[in-house]
Amino acid sequence: MTVFILARNPRRYRKNPSLSQSIAFKSRLNAACASNYERLSQTSSQQCYSITDELAKGIVPFKYINDLIVCTEEASYWIAAKTVCFDLDHGWSYMACNKCIIKVEKDGNSFFCPKCNSEAKVVHRYRLQVRVMDGTGLITLLLWNSEVVQLIGKTAKELKEGLIDDDECSYPSELDDIVEKKLMFKVLVKESNIYKQDEVYKVLKFADDESLSRNIVILH
Ligand SMILES: [Zn+2]
Repeated sequence: MTVFILARNPRRYRKNPSLSQSIAFKSRLNAACASNYERLSQTSSQQCYSITDELAKGIVPFKYINDLIVCTEEASYWIAAKTVCFDLDHGWSYMACNKCIIKVEKDGNSFFCPKCNSEAKVVHRYRLQVRVMDGTGLITLLLWNSEVVQLIGKTAKELKEGLIDDDECSYPSELDDIVEKKLMFKVLVKESNIYKQDEVYKVLKFADDESLSRNIVILH
């Protein structure tokens, strides 16, 4: 596993903050939480807890990337990271069965869904791998359809239709809006990440909130 150490000031990233720092962090976090509570709650409406609850109560812990990649516990964690570039080895989207959203196989002029075991009507969906970094490391995140739709504000079908040169290497310029963004990602550490050196982490959701992530990165 390749680890990129990018921290300029290691003191800022020490793992055991003093008690006073910890208290300062919590009070600053609570202040940030209060002001951002409503907006953040909206992005986490499918869950039982708000993002601020997950972080402040430690339900979903925050981790720096260098701690995440050595993590040996299968669980979800919040990270605060900046998007750097795309990893387009697997493209940016796929043709999915519109019933079960599984990837379909091309069969002449039609498509076959291996799960439905029948010919499928297809829909274009996002499957996008993005390289992200914080001050401690660099990893690849896997963003599925709903997260990219939230980030871009357009469906994969709309972007696909707008492509002029629709070859293997090209991708829609709208996707560049995702690059150089500071976001918070809730990522899943799976068995494959721990035992099979899989460096791609699945994103469960994200939060576009600079003030909250700034508080965490500085004071955690
Ligand atoms: Zn299907």
